[in-house]
Amino acid sequence: MKTVLITGASRGIGAACALLFGRSGYHVFVNYNKSEKCAERVCEMIKDEGGVCTAIQADITDRESVRRMVSLCRYYGGGIDVLVNNAGIDFYGTFEQTEPQIWDDIVNTDLTGAYNVIYAALPEIKNSGCGRIINISSVWGVHGASCEAAYSAAKAGIIGLTKALAKELGPANITVNCVAPGYIDTEMNARFDEKTVADIIDKTPLSRVGSAEDVAEAVLWLASEKASFITGAVLGADGGFM
Ligand code: NDP
Repeated sequence: MKTVLITGASRGIGAACALLFGRSGYHVFVNYNKSEKCAERVCEMIKDEGGVCTAIQADITDRESVRRMVSLCRYYGGGIDVLVNNAGIDFYGTFEQTEPQIWDDIVNTDLTGAYNVIYAALPEIKNSGCGRIINISSVWGVHGASCEAAYSAAKAGIIGLTKALAKELGPANITVNCVAPGYIDTEMNARFDEKTVADIIDKTPLSRVGSAEDVAEAVLWLASEKASFITGAVLGADGGFM
């Protein structure tokens, strides 16, 4: 049975990925940091549908905790075939409001967090023989967003990391890709008022916001055999927003 480790799978895009991979026959490692109850609910839903999953607590900014998570994946599932680096946080405010601690938190989670997990999980992914790494960036990582400098910088870093690793890990038959979602209806965007959302919809050719499932379908496809000749790509999941 193939295995997938999905970081930040307690809710939102990560949870949608977990459910979809569960339905597609993977043993799903549902990583969470603080939301234990939500992660357990995701696991129950996967098991109710006949799937296999294990919830694993780890803070991706803490290297020891990440190492422990990877050993648990080995113990419970024999290794890691697919890694989805999804966990992330954001901060909305001007550059002047982006105090050093905020900058550090965003970069440590959204960029260094992905590095931490890839670094610890790479031996497992190499063992797979046909491993996949899928990183979740953002349209703001491609184009930059006003009042989201730290987030845009970290998400742009994810794209650089993806492209570099695609070259380095290609000979090991590991593909490394990234998905760049547009506005997706999750808790991360709960702060936006109706007018802002209507404005985004107006600027989106497909005339709607995205769902977590829209992103999960793109991630599942990149993990599949069908995408075996695709690496170093940045796949937009944004309804044409950009
Ligand atoms: P949510 O805020 O809904 O969920 C974030 C997830 O990340 C939670 O499961 C949370 O777990 C986890 N997480 C946060 N910090 C850590 C940490 N230190 N260690 C482990 N897990 C952590 O976000 P979304 O589902 O909206 O976003 C998921 C990804 O998609 C993020 O990388 C985000 O930047 C990206 N994205 C989202 C877009 C959107 O419009 N929503 C657009 C573009 C990109 P817990 O609660 O357990 O701490």
